[in-house]
Amino acid sequence: MKKIAIFPGSFDPYTNGHHDIVVRGLKMFDEIIIGIGYNSAKKNRYFDIDLMVQKIESVYADEPRVKVMVYNELTSSLAKKTGADFLLRGLRNTTDFEYENTISQMNRKLKDGLETVFLITSPQYSAITSTIIREVHKFGINVNEYLPYPLEE
Ligand code: ADP
Repeated sequence: MKKIAIFPGSFDPYTNGHHDIVVRGLKMFDEIIIGIGYNSAKKNRYFDIDLMVQKIESVYADEPRVKVMVYNELTSSLAKKTGADFLLRGLRNTTDFEYENTISQMNRKLKDGLETVFLITSPQYSAITSTIIREVHKFGINVNEYLPYPLEE
């Protein structure tokens, strides 16, 4: 049976840290669905969601095992629909851990057997956060070096 994992997140924007998790995840899973959560509460994204889908798809143009989906429901519901038995998440620090701990327990309750697999960030990416990238981008700084695709020429 195919091992399918969803890598859920806001990806606003998708960074080298996210890419690293997917590349490493491909060694464990047959297919990874990058799920861009789009709930009404977080509607005000900084980077346009369609642009982000297009950019992420370009990164994995030669990797048919990676798919990109925008979803507007519980991650566990997306897992049920797509046949994913795993969630993939990155862990940078204890703040990430505290958050992930409760979410992963809830997800396993919502979909029986849905396991969250955590990968510890690679040290070179541990300081990369989408929040910081948005902050500096607002001030006109070119952020291409933090992203696995060119955002601007
Ligand atoms: P969310 O809004 O759900 O936190 P993000 O887009 O910020 O979504 O992150 C998605 C996932 O990627 C999370 O598991 C997060 O911990 C992980 N992640 C983010 N940045 C990094 C990084 N630099 N290294 C490893 N994992 C990361």
